[in-house]
Parts: sequence; C-alpha cells; structure tokens
Amino acid sequence: MSRPFPRAATTSSTSRSRARRAASRSPSSHRSFAIGARSSGARCTARRRSWSRCRPACAPARFPPARRTARWQPHCASGEAAARTALATWLDGPIDGYAETHNAVGVEAWIRQLCWRDFYAHVLLAHPGNARLEHQATYRDLEWEDDAEAFDAWREGRTGYPLVDAGMRQLARTGWMHNRARLTVGSFLTKDLHLDWRLGERHFEALLLDGEPAQNNGNWQWVTSVGVDPAPYFRRLFNPILQQRKFDPDGAYVRRWVPELRDVPDERLAEPWQMSDDEQRAAGCVIGRDYPPPIVVHADERRRAIERYRAAAG
Ligand SMILES: Cc1cc2nc3c(=O)[nH]c(=O)nc-3n(C[C@H](O)[C@H](O)[C@H](O)COP(=O)(O)OP(=O)(O)OC[C@H]3O[C@@H](n4cnc5c(N)ncnc54)[C@H](O)[C@@H]3O)c2cc1C
Repeated sequence: MSRPFPRAATTSSTSRSRARRAASRSPSSHRSFAIGARSSGARCTARRRSWSRCRPACAPARFPPARRTARWQPHCASGEAAARTALATWLDGPIDGYAETHNAVGVEAWIRQLCWRDFYAHVLLAHPGNARLEHQATYRDLEWEDDAEAFDAWREGRTGYPLVDAGMRQLARTGWMHNRARLTVGSFLTKDLHLDWRLGERHFEALLLDGEPAQNNGNWQWVTSVGVDPAPYFRRLFNPILQQRKFDPDGAYVRRWVPELRDVPDERLAEPWQMSDDEQRAAGCVIGRDYPPPIVVHADERRRAIERYRAAAG
C-alpha cells in the first residue's frame, strides 16, 4: 500500500543529503547488502544495486503489476538485514528490477514505507495493550461472529472471491503475500465475514516469513479500522472485485495461485460465478464443482459491517 505517512517524509534535497551523510556515518552502512546463512544456507553478500538478484525471496514482487515491492521485509524481520543498510543502498541509487514505479517516485516513497515500520514499532512500545485490544476503545465492543467454517474457507483460499483466495493460497504456499492482497484479505475477514481480526493476526503470524508482532498488529488494526489510523471505517472497506480489476487486470496473479480459474476469460475473472453454464463449460470451471461460489455477497456484508461499526461507535 502506498499510504501517505502521517508526518512529513524526508523529501527535500537538503534532508535527503543529510540522511545520506548520516547513513554513510553509520557502522552498518556497508555499500553491500548482506543476507545471512539462515535462509540461503550460505552467506551471501550481494553488491549494492544487485541485491534483488541475490535470492528469489529478494526479487521484487510483481503483484499488482503497477506496484512492485522490494520483498525485503523477510530479511529484516529475521534480523538478517538492517533497515539502515537497505536505506543506505537505496540512497546510493535505485535497485535493479525495481524500476518502473518505485524508481519513478524515487527513494522517498520507499523511505515513507520504511517509516511505517518504525511507526508501528513505536505504537506497540507506547501502547503494549494493543497486542490484545483495539487501540480505539470505542471499537472494543464490536461484535464478532463465531464461524469456524468461514474461517477455514478464508485461510484455505476457498471463499469464491479470486483475489482473496489467491492471496491466502500464496501465503500458505510461500509464507509471503503482497501488501495489496494482505489489505484485501484482511478487510474480507473482518468486514465481509465479520470475524475477529485477532484470528487473522494469529494466522499471519504463524505463516508470514516477515511476521513481526508490531507490524502485524498495527496493520491488522489499520485494516480493521480500530487502530491508530484516524480514517473512518467506511473508508477502509475493500471491495475484492474492484481491487482485483484494478490491481490484477490481466489476471496473472489470480491465475497463478488459483489454477482452476486459468481459462476463465478476463472479463469474468473477478466474478467467475457470473459465467453462464456454457461459459463455465468452455472455461473448464464449473462453479460449485471446480471452484466455490462466493461465500457471502460483498454488497450485503458491506452494509452489515457499516451497521456493526456504527452500533459500536454509538
Ligand atoms: C494485514 C496485514 C498484516 C501485515 N503483517 C506484517 C508483518 O507481520 N510484518 C511486516 O513486516 N509487515 C506486515 N505488513 C506490512 C506489509 O505488507 C509488509 O511490510 C510488506 O508487504 C513487505 O513487503 P516489501 O518488503 O516488498 O515492502 P515494500 O513495499 O517494498 O516496502 C519497503 C519496506 O517498508 C516497510 N513497510 C512497507 N509497508 C509497510 C506497512 N504497511 N507496515 C509496516 N512496514 C511497512 C517494510 O519494512 C518493507 O520491507 C502487513 C500488512 C497487512 C495489511
């Protein structure tokens, strides 16, 4: 997610050169990016500007096409790489393969993303109670449903919403999920299925290679609209159909993780249940047999979510 950070980011050239000087003074600012033995089996030191080639987990994530990410966080979460080192690398020039979007907006955008990491670390440090409770006391009375079947469908990628299922299957298979998919599946769990965000937080913590309590908690509270983010809940209701159309327009991500939808035409891929019987046969994907029908109707659940939040807010 390319969220604006609450406070001003380092954007001016003066502050940029100040940051560059500070980074070059820092003991960890080697002009190389070290990735330890823990994940690769052998210590691997990649030269700056080529660390993205070091190993697959480092390769920029290509979903959605318009928003590549560095896929650097797993190394940071495991303590293999320091944020300062990555920052120094970036300040020295963009990373290969991370081109179109990030390099175009520049290093400032990436630093802004990094700020979220520090921000959530500080939030949890200052408010340790957030580990269990909603930061906004108003929403501590939100009612959550108890539906084990729905939770299983979510975590196994069987909700019938292709983008949600693709994200959850990617997580189960690889231990990683693109941020855009994390937002979509998080909103789906809490605002379409009305299940407690702590269930999602625990599931992510168990599977994510970059799982970190402060980041995980802060982001789950953000997507559930109960955390430090001041935006109202109705601004954070992700429509899984529109998200897919916007961020995976050619269906490359969905087809990769939900292969039973491989031959569904692009125009039906976000709502495969809208295919006629003939279309389903032609695509080799009969809804209810090869791929589940939608577990809920998003438009209805959206309304219910608004009612629940409104009731909690009093
Ligand atoms: C529901 C949910 C749960 C999440 N759980 C975690 C988690 O357990 N651990 C975790 O590190 N991140 C978590 N995130 C945040 C984000 O998805 C990952 O940090 C990001 O996908 C890492 O990929 P990247 O390195 O390619 O990021 P890039 O987009 O390339 O960003 C660069 C760096 O900025 C930092 N960053 C970017 N976005 C965020 C963010 N939203 N919050 C905090 N730091 C950020 C990370 O250190 C990241 O490596 C979660 C997001 C959501 C919506």
